[in-house]
Parts: sequence; structure tokens; C-alpha cells
Amino acid sequence: MRARIAVLSHDSLRGRDTPSAGLESAAAYIARELAAMGWEPAGDSGTFLQRYPMPGSARGGARPPNVVAVLRGSDPALRETYVVLSAHMDHVGAGQPDAAGDSIYNGADDDASGTAAILEVAQAFAIMRPRPARSLLFLAVSGEEKGLLGSRHFTEHPPVPMPSMIANLNVDMIGRNAPDSIVVVGQEYSSLGATLREVGARHGELRLTVASDLWPGERFFFRSDQLNFARKEVPAVFFFAGTHHDYHLPSDEVELIDADKASRVARLIFFTAAAVAASIDRPTWDPDRLAEVRRLAR
Ligand SMILES: [Zn+2]
Repeated sequence: MRARIAVLSHDSLRGRDTPSAGLESAAAYIARELAAMGWEPAGDSGTFLQRYPMPGSARGGARPPNVVAVLRGSDPALRETYVVLSAHMDHVGAGQPDAAGDSIYNGADDDASGTAAILEVAQAFAIMRPRPARSLLFLAVSGEEKGLLGSRHFTEHPPVPMPSMIANLNVDMIGRNAPDSIVVVGQEYSSLGATLREVGARHGELRLTVASDLWPGERFFFRSDQLNFARKEVPAVFFFAGTHHDYHLPSDEVELIDADKASRVARLIFFTAAAVAASIDRPTWDPDRLAEVRRLAR
């Protein structure tokens, strides 16, 4: 976990701005790892990368990447449905130096931690036998920091039909704050919340309390990439350990990451995704919350 976060947040990637050479390096690293694990490419023309036009750039301008991959499920019918694991690989780039003269916004927690976590989960599923009934879809998006651009493009141009995506587990900033708890935003929106709490209760070895949204006034459910899945009415939950003093500053560095916590959160995500992917029942929305999403997430 720490090694993956260190790669993604290394100074040489210069803060993974969208678009940038550092972002391309991050995407290439993630694609290489997925290929080595045995995941299938699900991006453009048989590659792991799905590119989209940067808004405001001229035709033929920048086309930043998402990384998209699939791991086939074992059930001949249920494998046509997907549990989506997502995180954003981009961050805010380089900018004003801080008091220490550091101008690279490493984004180790935001969101190298979530990206590393879904890679770890991808690795666990790749070696799991038997495979879950349903398929898994891996999505590392870019452009989150520019307004959820990558997830917007993905959900408008999905490689498989949106209704075949039965759940989205989104992971953004899981490497800091209290070591013994993880906030999962959106639990009250769908049956995914109950599934997650059951899984958490069954895995005491993770030493993690699954906490509900500590900051309802911030409306975090509508602020990271799960929003674009909710807009398409895919039930979603958002793993998020909260902000901190280094949020969106050059000091969001790998040295400050609690890699043990991030690893335990990744295991919780793995067990939750495995439960959803094994179940004959699709997750269902809370009807009132779905009405709220339809009202607000236009
Ligand atoms: Zn983020």
C-alpha cells in the first residue's frame, strides 16, 4: 500500500494535474499493474485507457485518460453485471510554493490512497478462486479535481451499459485521521449501507468501525465521483476518512499516510465488493433518497 501511494504521489509526477505528463505516467503505471494481474482492458480500442476531450480545449487538444479494466465473473448470466471500484488518480498539480519552498501538490491522501486501495483490491480479486458470480469493473478517473470530468465522461460513454453496473464503491482519501474508523458516506441511500455494515461486523480483525457521515452539512455524497454514478441511478457508497490540515497543500505527502489503516480499509472494500458480487440480489435504492438524487444531481 505504501509503495503504491509513494509511486503515485512521487515528486516526479508533479501533482498529476489534468492534463499533464505526470497524469499520463500515473495512468500508465496503473494500466501496467492491471495487465500484470490479469485484468482485461476495457478502454478505447482494446487498451486500458479511455480518453476524453478536455473541456474548453480546441479540437485535437488535450485528451486526458481514465483507466478502465474488467475482471470477468464466474456465473454465465450474472457476469454480464458489474460492481464498479473507482478512485481518482489525478490531483491539482504544482503551484504556489509553501513556506518550506515545496511547490508540488503530491496528493498522497487525495487520492493516491484511494487509487492504491483499488489496485490492492484488484490484485486480491485477480487471485481469488472461485471468482465472484458478477464481474468487477476497475475505474481510475482523472479530472476529478477539475469538476468530476473523467467520471462524467465515463458515465456518459460507458464501455458496458450503465444498467449493468449494479453498484459503485468510490474511494477518495482513506489514509489519514482516526486509525480505528472509516467514514462511509451514502450508507442511507441504498441497501449497500446495510451490506457494508454486515461485512464490517463480520470482520472484527480489521479493527475498523464503519462510521456514517460525520459531516452531513458538507453533502460529500454529491462531491466526489460517486455523484456521476448516482446521477445514472447506480447505487453508490463513498469511502472517505475526512479532510485534514494538509488537504490540497504541498504537504499532502506519503510520509503522513497511515498505510496500515489504508490497507485495512482496502480489505473492507474487498469484502464488501465480494459480497455484492456474490449476491443474486442487486443493491436497491432507498426510495426517498433516490427522489433526492433525482432532484439534486441533475
Ligand atoms: Zn479527492
